[in-house]
Amino acid sequence: MRIDVITIFPEYLAPLHVSLVGKAVARGVLDVHVHDLRRWTHDRHATVDDTPYGGGPGMVMKTGPWGEALDEVIADGYETGARLPRLVVPTPSGRPFTQEHAAELSAQPWLIFIPARYEGIDRRVVDEYATRLPVHEISIGDYVLAGGEAPVLVIVEAVARLLPGVLGNAESHRDDSFAPGPMASLLEGPVYTKPPEWRGRTVPDVLLSGHHGKIARWRRDEALRRTAAHRPDLIERCDPAAFDRKDRELLAALGWRPGPGGHYVKNEKGEDGAA
Ligand code: SAM
Repeated sequence: MRIDVITIFPEYLAPLHVSLVGKAVARGVLDVHVHDLRRWTHDRHATVDDTPYGGGPGMVMKTGPWGEALDEVIADGYETGARLPRLVVPTPSGRPFTQEHAAELSAQPWLIFIPARYEGIDRRVVDEYATRLPVHEISIGDYVLAGGEAPVLVIVEAVARLLPGVLGNAESHRDDSFAPGPMASLLEGPVYTKPPEWRGRTVPDVLLSGHHGKIARWRRDEALRRTAAHRPDLIERCDPAAFDRKDRELLAALGWRPGPGGHYVKNEKGEDGAA
């Protein structure tokens, strides 16, 4: 997969050469190109921003440098044989980034990221390239960062670990939180490693039992418990047909019941009497 990032802070992307993503780059699974947007400015101050039309606080990134940068990066990619780029625009007003979205992007041959600073990029840039490329406007959460570089690192890492050959164990992401499959939309439960006892705290016996069926059941129960506690919205959205008898018993004990549409809803009061 080819990845281009155009930014006014190229040094911010240094972590792309560290750890799992760094190894993927070193092995050629990821072909990463980081570009300094100021290369495409033509004034003494390398200006990339200007005051907003309509007034208001902050500055807006100018069309000119972005247009020239994108034209050159796209042309360069095509020359070197890359095909079908997608434009990824980190923005708090984008679609919330999910594991499903990461999987969709991981199937693409080429992603071009345009992280902004200030109040964002003049809208005409995205509108212009949307006529030529699929555009993904992505938010990494309901908060506002100073720039899009950290979101690029987040998105690239989530995408890279799904690429074939990047994780040492290809099965590692199968049981992840949000992984597709029978555990769809459930968070992953707690995990443990050696030693079996630390500061008087022991590992749950079942994990030492070697009994695969019981271990799978325990993991599923813990995933349900954690999801019900931290992300009740995910339980509400789960297809009730995905719950087996044991799931239903546990959910009932946690104070959940099937609602009018079949989807699970939280009782006013659980068995423990808690609201
Ligand atoms: N005025 C903009 C707004 O309220 O939507 C915020 C601009 S923010 C200060 C500057 C840049 O940081 C954004 O254009 C985007 O590239 C990036 N950014 C900030 N928060 C983000 C988030 N939650 N998700 C993705 N990108 C974000």
